Amino acid sequence: MHQNCTVLLDSERIAAFYEARGYKKARSIQEADDVVINTCMVRQKAEDRVYGIIYNLNKLKMKNSKLKIILTGCMVGMSAREKTGKMFALLQKRMPAVDEFLPIEEVGFDHAPVRSDTKHALVPVTNGCNNFCTFCVVPFTRGREVSRPVEDILTECHDLANQGYTHVTLIGQNVNSYGSDLKNNTIKPVYVKHLGRLRIPTLFPYLLEKVSNISGLKVIDFISSNPWDFSDELIDVIAGNKNISRHIHLPVQSGDNTVLARMNRWYTREEYLSLIKKLRKHIPGVTISTDIIVGFCGETKTQFNNTVSLVREVGFSKAYVAMYSDRPMTAAHKVYKDDVPHAEKKRRWAILEELINKTNLKNGTYI
Ligand code: SF4
Repeated sequence: MHQNCTVLLDSERIAAFYEARGYKKARSIQEADDVVINTCMVRQKAEDRVYGIIYNLNKLKMKNSKLKIILTGCMVGMSAREKTGKMFALLQKRMPAVDEFLPIEEVGFDHAPVRSDTKHALVPVTNGCNNFCTFCVVPFTRGREVSRPVEDILTECHDLANQGYTHVTLIGQNVNSYGSDLKNNTIKPVYVKHLGRLRIPTLFPYLLEKVSNISGLKVIDFISSNPWDFSDELIDVIAGNKNISRHIHLPVQSGDNTVLARMNRWYTREEYLSLIKKLRKHIPGVTISTDIIVGFCGETKTQFNNTVSLVREVGFSKAYVAMYSDRPMTAAHKVYKDDVPHAEKKRRWAILEELINKTNLKNGTYI
């Protein structure tokens, strides 16, 4: 479960958006009249891949003049949001073969996604993010956090259970702040931390418990969940409901306090470790996976070694390790220098890959 989950979920929603307009899935790309490309901008590599796909589709278009290419997802979202219009003009110039640019907001949540799995369903709870981690492009590509109403999510989950689905994954950029934008006078919110103070009212513990009470759902999990606003109430809900997964994805990004502050992550190494301790105490058998960025702007070898020591201390079951990729519009792009050489990023990446993903984990320590 990861960023890929969000992209897959968007693709399922896009398919539903087109089906509702009478479109049918083509058997192959050669037989398609319209091709929709859902883009991701989290790393430069993903963006480069889109240019390659468009290049190849253009060759197809030369043989079939009726073929329509539609671009959606992060690349369109970011360009549409940039006020001067320069970014959108650049996108059009770089991809003249594209016939239509579709902002993902236009897809909306009105239609149930066209799901590829018959047992496991991805269910969106929020879209967008208010957190502005300095390395992350998501608040610019998806905009501010918007929550779906509680009733809509519960109806969807009930319907899924009635259709035979047994596993539901609740998805948002940060599920912990789910509901802070909803006006609700009947549900008592839980206040979670923002800028060091308990001031964001979230309905996520309530929602998670309600979903876990739906008969027929055997596994419920969620992604992503940030360390700074993971509430005690959320821990209690997980601990008290056996069908909520005992695996939690908790992105740490770095084990060094200076790097965390530069990333605008609102927790320290010590706070992260204390949350892990609390989770292990209240949820016996819990396993933790994470996201880590290596080679963030200005990361020294000592700072990287602090991440290595945190990794050893926590004993993650899995980690998505990424080399820092400079992204337009982000604060890191504007303020910091992407100054760790690529070879050094690769070296750090390989150390963590070896330590976490290629080494067996037993009882919370690597063996
Ligand atoms: S919480 Fe941070 S990393 Fe996650 S989507 Fe929001 S800005 Fe990006």
